[in-house]
Amino acid sequence: MKPFHSRTKIVATLGPASAKPDVLYSMFNAGLDVCRLNFSHGSQADHQEVIDTIRSINKKYKYNVGILADLQGPKIRIGTVKDGGIHLVNGNKTIITTQECVGNEDRIYITYESFPKDVKAGEIILLDDGKLQMRVLETNYKDEVVCEVVHGGILTSRKGVNLPNTKVSIPSLTTEDRKNLDFVLESDVEWIGLSFVRNAEDIIELKDIIKAKGKAARVVAKIEKPEAIANIDEIIAVSDAVMVARGDLGVEMPMEEVPLLQKMIVNKCKAASKPVIIATQMLESMITTPRPTRAEVNDVANSVLDGADAVMLSGETSVGEFPLIVIETMQKIISNIEDNNYPFHPEKFLKPSKESFLSDAVCDSACFLAKQTNAVGIVSMTLSGYTAFEISSHRPQAPIFIFTSNESLLNTLSLVWGVRGFYYDKFESTDNTITEVNEFLKKKKLIKKGDVIINTAAIPMEIKGKTNMLKITVID
Ligand code: PGA
Ligand code: MN
Repeated sequence: MKPFHSRTKIVATLGPASAKPDVLYSMFNAGLDVCRLNFSHGSQADHQEVIDTIRSINKKYKYNVGILADLQGPKIRIGTVKDGGIHLVNGNKTIITTQECVGNEDRIYITYESFPKDVKAGEIILLDDGKLQMRVLETNYKDEVVCEVVHGGILTSRKGVNLPNTKVSIPSLTTEDRKNLDFVLESDVEWIGLSFVRNAEDIIELKDIIKAKGKAARVVAKIEKPEAIANIDEIIAVSDAVMVARGDLGVEMPMEEVPLLQKMIVNKCKAASKPVIIATQMLESMITTPRPTRAEVNDVANSVLDGADAVMLSGETSVGEFPLIVIETMQKIISNIEDNNYPFHPEKFLKPSKESFLSDAVCDSACFLAKQTNAVGIVSMTLSGYTAFEISSHRPQAPIFIFTSNESLLNTLSLVWGVRGFYYDKFESTDNTITEVNEFLKKKKLIKKGDVIINTAAIPMEIKGKTNMLKITVID
């Protein structure tokens, strides 16, 4: 059992700074719940090594740290440039070409074959996280686009390109993504992130491939394009989880809109009982310093207060100097909010039209009862995980203890707010099972004599149906 359990979970991107077994083990102990592997960087062999390390720590210490494999999607980049960096000057003209070349001040290669056909005069091109900006003057509709530098600066090799106004025709799963997808499905990762999602079909296409391969991996839709914001309800409806990918979102949309978009997405995800991750630059300054800025501390705290399931680290833990201190810092910020002034039990409206309405009502009632009785735990059993996601979405104050015979689900649930999963496979009679799981929690010192807990179950047990029963138990 991991020593640290806040309700809000921590996702950390692994890289050279953190992928070593001893560093990773100390990060797990400090509160890391889900490891993100960024397939924009590193070879499959590198990722395999990290996956093996995570799995072996999990096995040795009986931890359930999950893996989120993040596919690059239709990310556009420039090619290499001469001398490792070129200086673009305001007002100068530069040709962006689809013919591969080493870039210079006059000519830069872009990894986007149909760019000259998709782009229109007047559209904006943002480079390196929006630090540099160009405007399209004309295109030959074949292989060259003439641009004017609006905000110049130093441009180094392989930097990302954002086209906020352009209708990008690249498929959501590129050839490279498909290769990486095959690889991560082979490794049975629990979560797969898809970048630059534009509509629900992007997610459905990915889920169909996963299903056709007979795999259980769930999909995280990364919201980082204006099209995704326009289609947000449909995307949430078909996704298993959502990431507020503020890095690209703040380049593709006016950055001042991101704080309210974050709140909007979190609220919609809670209403739909889908986990939501807040990502990017949360503790950015800690890449090079052991103390974050006060503004960053506020950002993490406010994301916790918004009700996110998880807060995410990128460069801070993948290439930063202080991966362990970063996790410790994030954990302290989360715990301080949860121990003092967390908005537990926000109002949630159930949808009578949903097929699961009746079991949703039981989950809602479990949270209500837990609140009324000051229960120290909501204890549920699930095979699909449904009950865990549903109870979590009510953000109850009582910890959510989930028992399942589905081993890989335990790692999946590491992303879900407030949930702690345990393996249990003896679903006999209701009375027996409830006594046993309660006894288990008592042995683990998670509950004690005299405590009130709320048990939910699906009876009769053998049928493994939907949650339909509630019980108040006083532990003896
Ligand atoms: P990335 O996604 O780190 O893969 O770019 C997150 C973001 O854009 O915020
Ligand atoms: Mn991104």
